[in-house]
Amino acid sequence: NLFSDLGLSEWALQVCKELGMKNPTKVQSHCIPKILSGRDVLGLAQTGSGKTAAFALPILHRLAEDPYGVFALVITPTRELAYQLAEQFRAFGSCLHLRCTVVVGGMDSLSQAKTLMGRPHVVIATPGRIKVLMENPDIRPVFSRTKFLVLDEADRVIDVGFQEELRVVFKCLPKSRQTLLFSATMTSELQTLLELSANKAYFYEE
Ligand code: AMP
Repeated sequence: NLFSDLGLSEWALQVCKELGMKNPTKVQSHCIPKILSGRDVLGLAQTGSGKTAAFALPILHRLAEDPYGVFALVITPTRELAYQLAEQFRAFGSCLHLRCTVVVGGMDSLSQAKTLMGRPHVVIATPGRIKVLMENPDIRPVFSRTKFLVLDEADRVIDVGFQEELRVVFKCLPKSRQTLLFSATMTSELQTLLELSANKAYFYEE
């Protein structure tokens, strides 16, 4: 059970070491190789399980091989979670010159639109604000080559009644992207979302 068995690049192993991550957690050792191999993933895992690194590390591994923006879009239910996710992405991506931006309500959407036009590598967003931005025809092309869609705390994102927002997001992203869903609980909506995704999905349960 070693990080070096998961298929991650040397720089990523080094980052884990520097951040004091000695061994992968369960969700990391199961999901990282599947994500690197191109599979969609539905992971049932709680906060504290290390699920953020389970998707951030393989996304950054792939980004480092062929960097362009917007490479990954991460949707999470609250502003606080969005900032926490960004902090982790920045920590893991510190040696990559990673451009990561947070797009949430309560901030000026015009300046957020401008930031998105600069095509950051990773966009971390709440559903309401990313929907509004994606309805802007200047923004839509920004996501035309996005490789990863992550729904973090996916059960909450869906539960709060963001169906319409998610529909807009799904329509904006290429079909060929990888979809990664992480959730504390299994719901029928999650199952449906997964069936909509293109790659045969790997199911992980803690
Ligand atoms: P998460 O479940 O993603 O919210 O992560 C919970 C905390 O565990 C975060 O502060 C991580 O930095 C930390 N963490 C994640 N993976 C590991 C690991 N393999 N070893 C030690 N700590 C970790």
